[in-house]
Amino acid sequence: MTAANLRVRVRVPAKINLFLGVRGRRDDGYHDLVSVMQTIGVHDRLTASMSEVGGLHPTVRSRMSISLTHSDAVHLPCDSSNLAVRAAEALLASLGGGGNGDHDDGPVTRLHLRKRIPIAGGMAGGSADAAAALVALNELWDCGLDTAELRRVAADLGADVPFCVLGGTALATGTGTQTAQVLCRTQAHWVVGINQEPLSTREVYAAWDEHCEPSQTEPDAVLTALGTGDLEALGAALHNDLEPAAFSLRPILEKQRDRLVTEGALGAVVSGSGPTVLGLAPDQVNAQRLAAAVEDEFDRVLVASAPAGGPELLAELG
Ligand code: ATP
Repeated sequence: MTAANLRVRVRVPAKINLFLGVRGRRDDGYHDLVSVMQTIGVHDRLTASMSEVGGLHPTVRSRMSISLTHSDAVHLPCDSSNLAVRAAEALLASLGGGGNGDHDDGPVTRLHLRKRIPIAGGMAGGSADAAAALVALNELWDCGLDTAELRRVAADLGADVPFCVLGGTALATGTGTQTAQVLCRTQAHWVVGINQEPLSTREVYAAWDEHCEPSQTEPDAVLTALGTGDLEALGAALHNDLEPAAFSLRPILEKQRDRLVTEGALGAVVSGSGPTVLGLAPDQVNAQRLAAAVEDEFDRVLVASAPAGGPELLAELG
């Protein structure tokens, strides 16, 4: 390893669900899903740096520790409950390293997160950061793992993490970890309505358990619309089985979704477990117009396009 790659930066996009079907609750408490996921151009940035060259030599690897800082003012953990740290520890463990012990004399890998993806917003921000950490540390530590190997490490970290390692557009089944890339012939412009007050994914699924029945709705209409690049058909086909559960906990989300349609969106849907609400615009100009029209409805409104690729290695800094 040279001094030139002691610092690595990765930009990682958020995720939206164009289709989310909940097939039922499994005995282990997870839910069987069918989901069409896509990355969207709202990015976190992770910088990884290491205190010494050769920090991953097998003799010192077991003494490696990970530290995390971030730019977010609200409560985001910096310890092992942060998915970026968990990803670093999992990668280290897969290499035969010793995890994040208190090793005063060992090498330190520092992670810094610049958060832009809303926290607990239904856009897989934590999973995206885990994917960013895997990609960054694979480079920094010179691990040489390919994407399939990184996705295997990712699968133990959370249902959305394997998707976030690759990005693009995918059909996910099982608990969400089994994914297949999907043909997408269109770049879509979205209005992203952000509600600052988080909504817990766990609570939304608990509300689904209480109030909802497994659905058999299929994602065919979304897949066809993506394959033909038909935005109007995509808008009409957007679907999320978690919406009734999210609306029961946060009724205003239904009003926000409907307002996006009233103001001219081709379709609107709650993103994942919410509380972010998405409106599909016919084009970029109308996305800006729509964003301005619904500004009063949300804490913050962004315009972003999808799909947005996957984690991107930005540069090696000296
Ligand atoms: P999903 O769409 O996968 O359900 P989400 O976007 O709703 O996820 P996240 O932003 O991933 O939710 O955060 C969910 C919880 O995970 C938060 O309460 C937060 O404290 C915790 N968390 C751990 N690591 C991170 C991270 N790097 N970024 C954001 N949240 C994190």
